[in-house]
Amino acid sequence: MPLLVMKFGGTSVADLERIRNAALKVKREVERGYDVIVIVSAMSGKTNELVGWVEQTSPLFDAREYDAVVSSGENVTAGLMALTLQEMDVPARSWQGWQVPINTTSAHSAARFVSIPRDHLDAKFAEGFKVAVVAGFQGVSPEGRITTLGRGGSDTTAVAFAAAFGAERCDIYTDVDGVYTTDPRITDKARKLDRIAFEEMLELASLGAKVLQTRSVELAMRYKVRLRVLSSFEDTDENSGTLVCDEEEIMESKVVSGIAYSRDEAKLTLVTVEDRPGIAAAIFGPLSEAGVNVDMIVQNISEKNFEGHNVAVTDMTFSCPVNQVARAQKALEDARASGSIAYDDLVVDTDVAKVSVVGIGMRSHAGVAAQMFSALSAENINIKVIGTSEIKISVLIDRKYMELAVQALHDAFGLHRAA
Ligand code: ADP
Ligand code: ASP
Ligand code: MG
Repeated sequence: MPLLVMKFGGTSVADLERIRNAALKVKREVERGYDVIVIVSAMSGKTNELVGWVEQTSPLFDAREYDAVVSSGENVTAGLMALTLQEMDVPARSWQGWQVPINTTSAHSAARFVSIPRDHLDAKFAEGFKVAVVAGFQGVSPEGRITTLGRGGSDTTAVAFAAAFGAERCDIYTDVDGVYTTDPRITDKARKLDRIAFEEMLELASLGAKVLQTRSVELAMRYKVRLRVLSSFEDTDENSGTLVCDEEEIMESKVVSGIAYSRDEAKLTLVTVEDRPGIAAAIFGPLSEAGVNVDMIVQNISEKNFEGHNVAVTDMTFSCPVNQVARAQKALEDARASGSIAYDDLVVDTDVAKVSVVGIGMRSHAGVAAQMFSALSAENINIKVIGTSEIKISVLIDRKYMELAVQALHDAFGLHRAA
């Protein structure tokens, strides 16, 4: 029997009426002859509420209990979805991660898949069930504890099931009708893409476009899953939404295909650090041990006169998520107190955002950076840090200009027009 994976995000299961609407979409696929694995998120806002409760109860919480609490939102929607389908005479049953089992590593709150054995669910389909509803975002560790996959992780659950069960397609139903040239909440000129290459989607996701979790795109690329993003609020058919696919399947060729942003960034500068071999390791080692996700790094070498001698010094600037600043500060201050690094000052700017332009066309076209910088300068937006890779350019700017920067770049690269 051909099999589909259908994933419904938080807004798509936000209340009983929406669960019913999603269930009708599942029923339609069953009537077309598919077995379906449905992956559900928690009702929108639920996971945030659960995270808040954990943080209020225990600021330095035990990660195992965090996962026990925050995974629970998905358990509720999985059961409700199975009940709704049963009321529609669709043979359905729900499963939590540990029941499948969805085996993961024991990295609580950021676990990764180890295996999803098929035998149990295969036997259930053979018994006559048409739909297996699986709670997204969660799994079970080798120690038998509940784990979660990181925020937005239900997308990754969906792709992992599509890969494990050889699904014909993995459909991600959400509150937008596809992947756009940029977040349609930021500009109404954003244009829906019919197709987007895995590499571009991977960059957009990792640079902040939360329409798909980064890891889900990685898995889809690795296991050749046909991944589609589409609206749960509109009538859809096999041509709806955006297909994430190989570059070769894409006709449209623009140099820049999308713009992503990440609102909550921080910039930290260690002023006057001694410039010697090993200094970067002495700074970034403790940051990594403290769990700080360092993103962009810039080093400016200069000279300083010290007791009559010129010595090479450097200012080391890096960025990280704003909610990790306290941890970063503590790690650096501890390293300074232990004597492993020395610096004059630590300057922290918590009001920055990152805006990035992405496109596989950049591999073969020069001039994108210059065009990007002049578009920002025309709006008087100052660039604080620049980072590049083969198919993206990112800049760190003041957060208050973030929307303006996205809109200006969207216009400058003509993204509202089809290629
Ligand atoms: P779900 O709850 O269904 O998982 P998310 O809120 O995680 O949904 O992701 C969908 C949201 O992603 C959209 O509402 C949109 O605001 C945002 N988004 C960011 N960038 C893009 C983009 N390039 N294309 C479409 N949506 C985007
Ligand atoms: N409910 C989880 C979250 O909000 C997982 C998901 O929706 O994908 O992060
Ligand atoms: Mg999501």
